[in-house]
Amino acid sequence: MALQFQCLQVFSPLSPVATTRSPSSSRSPSLVIASSKFHTAPLLGRKLRAAVIGGGPAGSSAAEALAAGGVETYLFERSPSSAKPCGGALPLCMLSEFDIPAHLIDRHVTRMKIISPSNIAVDFGKTLKAHEFIPMLRREVLDSFLRARAQSIGANIIHGLVLNLEVPASSNAPYVVHYTTENSMRSLAVDVVIGADGANSRVAKSIDAGGYTCAIAFQERIKLPEEKMEYYENLAEMYVGNDVSPDFYAWVFPKCDHVAVGTGTVCSKQDIKQYQSGIRERAKSKISGGKVIKVEAHPIPEHPRARRVIGRVALVGDAAGYVTKCSGEGIYFAAKSGRMCGEAVVRASEGGERMIGERDLKREYLREWDAKYVGTFRFLDLLQRVFYGDNAGREALVEMCGNEYVQRMTFESYLYKKLAEGNRVEDAKLMWNTIGSLIKCGIVGR
Ligand SMILES: Cc1cc2nc3c(=O)[nH]c(=O)nc-3n(C[C@H](O)[C@H](O)[C@H](O)COP(=O)(O)OP(=O)(O)OC[C@H]3O[C@@H](n4cnc5c(N)ncnc54)[C@H](O)[C@@H]3O)c2cc1C
Repeated sequence: MALQFQCLQVFSPLSPVATTRSPSSSRSPSLVIASSKFHTAPLLGRKLRAAVIGGGPAGSSAAEALAAGGVETYLFERSPSSAKPCGGALPLCMLSEFDIPAHLIDRHVTRMKIISPSNIAVDFGKTLKAHEFIPMLRREVLDSFLRARAQSIGANIIHGLVLNLEVPASSNAPYVVHYTTENSMRSLAVDVVIGADGANSRVAKSIDAGGYTCAIAFQERIKLPEEKMEYYENLAEMYVGNDVSPDFYAWVFPKCDHVAVGTGTVCSKQDIKQYQSGIRERAKSKISGGKVIKVEAHPIPEHPRARRVIGRVALVGDAAGYVTKCSGEGIYFAAKSGRMCGEAVVRASEGGERMIGERDLKREYLREWDAKYVGTFRFLDLLQRVFYGDNAGREALVEMCGNEYVQRMTFESYLYKKLAEGNRVEDAKLMWNTIGSLIKCGIVGR
């Protein structure tokens, strides 16, 4: 289907794409404004048209930025009413950065326990200041809020399942999104596509972005008797040990009227149910008498894909592989990458007035993203390798977490998503303590 961009001007947004061939584009290079940093042709008489596939935090944030910046935006979501399996813990900075209203938050977690394989529990939130907390919310609540906001700013929401993305043969022809909605097949031709369709991304497959290793995460939502729920009022627990996961941690996170109890693993996915039994066993005295109200499982990407921008298609959030090791955190990075990518398209298209190309997306989105976050991702990858490898490493990790300097540095980096300012003397002490813990647990020298 070799549609040219001029055809798009007369399409009704939801009408099937025409299948007739139109004459080749006759855009003259002289239309390119020499002084512009972007070397693509202006779009005459229409706006740049973008499809965002997936209405999670990544997709909604991308759609909001695109629509706000003057791009004609279509946001596809296959099941707006369902809930993404997720712990729902956010870094504090996300509330102000993404204007998340306070009433969406179920719990303000101010206490955190990390529990070692030998059941030594360390209070991990001692250095939190009076106004600091970890917001916990339900994803169904957050996702529908973000989608509605993108819509209010001008994005067109399409409740539909995207089946595939047709990649054009020539560099200036449109991409065609094929989808089903209300039991009928439809297509939409667009200039730019943002793939925000999560860990099983069809957009990534359509553009041959390369695969990635995934962890599997399993979670039960358990409604506890009132007196037991009180214990988890503002407390989250993290458990480490071979019994709950060979390479990750298990959690009990408080939600509005229940706790989310879950675990994950990369290297032993077939045993995930055994690890879930492990966390239930460890937290038994605190969650017994509870009623399971939902069971859910989902893959978590372990690293970014080999290719995240191809042609005029960019991947964001889980589709790109933006979940940190060690913490398994992805909501903030999804929303942030979606917003950065949307803003990059707006900048490169000068408010939706010009066509963009692969080079623009790489320069305005990928390069900026990598400069900001690659270091964080690599650092957490290293921590996971050192401390989650076996029970000795996990005992060392829990011991270190008792250190107030470690807590302050960890929380400042996590809550505000910027590297906390260290102190040389404390850093040196921390290094010695770390080596000491590792020697004590038999890791150094092995
Ligand atoms: C059990 C579990 C617990 C987690 N806990 C936390 C946590 O506490 N904190 C944290 O920060 N991160 C957590 N994560 C990670 C976090 O959930 C993800 O990183 C985050 O959801 C990524 O957002 P996203 O928008 O990229 O993708 P998703 O949230 O997966 O959204 C993708 C959207 O695309 C839609 N979609 C997919 N395919 C199509 C299609 N073909 N057509 C139309 N729509 C489509 C889906 O319906 C979905 O709404 C957890 C993950 C799991 C599995």
